[in-house]
Amino acid sequence: MKDLIIIGAGPAGLTASIYGIRSGLDLILVEKLSPGGQVVNTFEVENYPGFIDPIPGWELMSKMEGQARRLGVEIVAGHVKSAEKDEDSSLFKVNFADGTVIEAKSVIAATGSSYRKLDIKGEKEFTGRGVSYCATCDGAFFKDKRVAVIGGGNTALEEAHFLTRFASKIYLIHRRDRFRGVKILQERVLASEKIEPVYDTIPESINGSEKVETISVKNKKSGKESTIPVDGVFVFIGFDPNTDYLPENILNEKKEVIVDKRMKTKIEGLFAAGDLRSESARQIVMAASDGATAALEAYDYIINSGA
Ligand SMILES: Cc1cc2nc3c(=O)[nH]c(=O)nc-3n(C[C@H](O)[C@H](O)[C@H](O)COP(=O)(O)OP(=O)(O)OC[C@H]3O[C@@H](n4cnc5c(N)ncnc54)[C@H](O)[C@@H]3O)c2cc1C
Repeated sequence: MKDLIIIGAGPAGLTASIYGIRSGLDLILVEKLSPGGQVVNTFEVENYPGFIDPIPGWELMSKMEGQARRLGVEIVAGHVKSAEKDEDSSLFKVNFADGTVIEAKSVIAATGSSYRKLDIKGEKEFTGRGVSYCATCDGAFFKDKRVAVIGGGNTALEEAHFLTRFASKIYLIHRRDRFRGVKILQERVLASEKIEPVYDTIPESINGSEKVETISVKNKKSGKESTIPVDGVFVFIGFDPNTDYLPENILNEKKEVIVDKRMKTKIEGLFAAGDLRSESARQIVMAASDGATAALEAYDYIINSGA
């Protein structure tokens, strides 16, 4: 039995583990892939404090992981399938995909979110054959090729700009008449000769035989349909929280975990931190801050509740 189980080793979970272990808690940090979370898919991070120059995403996260391990955090490989509180014992039972069950006095859910899909014809079929959700991972395959980027938020703008290193032409397809991302990113994108914004437009299907060859789109205002020849389609239209292993009664209609300012859910002893929580700004620094708050609260709960 553990004091604390932290689920998910992205910035939120790793920071929670650093605060938890320094408080003297007996804890484990569980991760279904390798530690680092979504940041490892980010080419460079330039808004996380402490680094004068932009730092590659993988490097930032390997520093966070190294710091946690140096302090003695045990990172356990495992896919959590459910985390339930037994009201009689007040203990949490955390169930893993391989059948393992570990009990703990407290749990921090820090499992982030996953890429939202377009849900159009051809998307699934061509995933890995031209359709991608990660420019850092797949951008280099599109040297001197034409690609479409779908989305208009910060991630879409950042990733479209990153793709200018490789692609000869980038159609940045957005359903509104202007981008949602911050001004500095909009300016960068609009200044690039390789990027052509395609506003008020939604993708309808991704087409090809072996690989992606075209994308069919529709202008929302005029209703006009057209087909753009492209070799790749990068999708950045948001994220869905990874919360399917948590009790329904702590989630809102978007399946985000409802927390108060102290990262407490309505189940005592269960906390949530990072991108999976309601009203998250979905940034590394916020996830780290949430993780620290959740770990301090978990410590208070364990010490004061007699759990
Ligand atoms: C392309 C891209 C670029 C970005 N650029 C920036 C940037 O420049 N600056 C910035 O501040 N933010 C950026 N972000 C956002 C940032 O990555 C997130 O805000 C941050 O990673 C959230 O951290 P988290 O710990 O909440 O979740 P995540 O980083 O998503 O980590 C969650 C972890 O939980 C694991 N997990 C999920 N489910 C389970 C389960 N059931 N069992 C066990 N483990 C599980 C996952 O494998 C993952 O490792 C970017 C995001 C993307 C996708």
